[in-house]
Amino acid sequence: MGYKFVDNYREKGARKKLVEELRKKGISDEQVLKAIGTVKRHYFFDETFWNQAYLDKAFPIGEGQTISNPYTVAYQSELLHIKKGDKVLEIGTGCGYQTCVLLELGAKVYTIERQEKLFERTRQVLPHIGYQAEFFLGDGSKGIAEHAPYDKIIVTAGAPLVPQILLKQLKIGGILVIPVGDEKSQKMVTVLRVSENDFDKIVLDTFRFVPLLGDQAW
Ligand code: SAM
Repeated sequence: MGYKFVDNYREKGARKKLVEELRKKGISDEQVLKAIGTVKRHYFFDETFWNQAYLDKAFPIGEGQTISNPYTVAYQSELLHIKKGDKVLEIGTGCGYQTCVLLELGAKVYTIERQEKLFERTRQVLPHIGYQAEFFLGDGSKGIAEHAPYDKIIVTAGAPLVPQILLKQLKIGGILVIPVGDEKSQKMVTVLRVSENDFDKIVLDTFRFVPLLGDQAW
């Protein structure tokens, strides 16, 4: 029992299969697929559950939260069009799996989590497994104004609407990716900041996330 950071042939093989599964499901960005093939998702699971780590499924991570399913992580990552050195705000750190994928894509990541236990665990685990990000504890529905503006913002919990305050923290040319809907299902929404006051919004596929709680959310 417990968390172990060992990458065996079985896990390596399962990771390769997962990449092929995501490709079949429509993920085509080779950089994103490479990142999924690199981040060791089983490191976020108790060893007892390593046989679940490379299934395309969400999984409980404690505190009533989940590690997102790999397809969702890949889908959101693809929509962000990360370029090396992009400054990215991630709202909803959770266990940090998505954070690692963003870091593999070359982003500088500012990530915020409202649950203290998850925040503490993740900010200890990530450097231990070789990933450096800036960790914050608090209500991410308001963004992090002190470090704005960002090239990209990703929200990994379901919001009732697009918080306007987040749009203000985007650079011109920047992209926000956020699931928007009710508690049962959300549509993935991308917003491109075209100019100071102009935003292009696209509504995409349906997903199911845990709720974004906070001042600008539920
Ligand atoms: N990104 C994670 C991954 O890689 O698997 C999954 C994140 S989980 C689906 C959503 C997270 O958002 C939860 O850990 C939850 O506590 C957090 N959350 C919800 N509302 C939040 C808020 N207002 N600010 C920061 N984090 C929030």
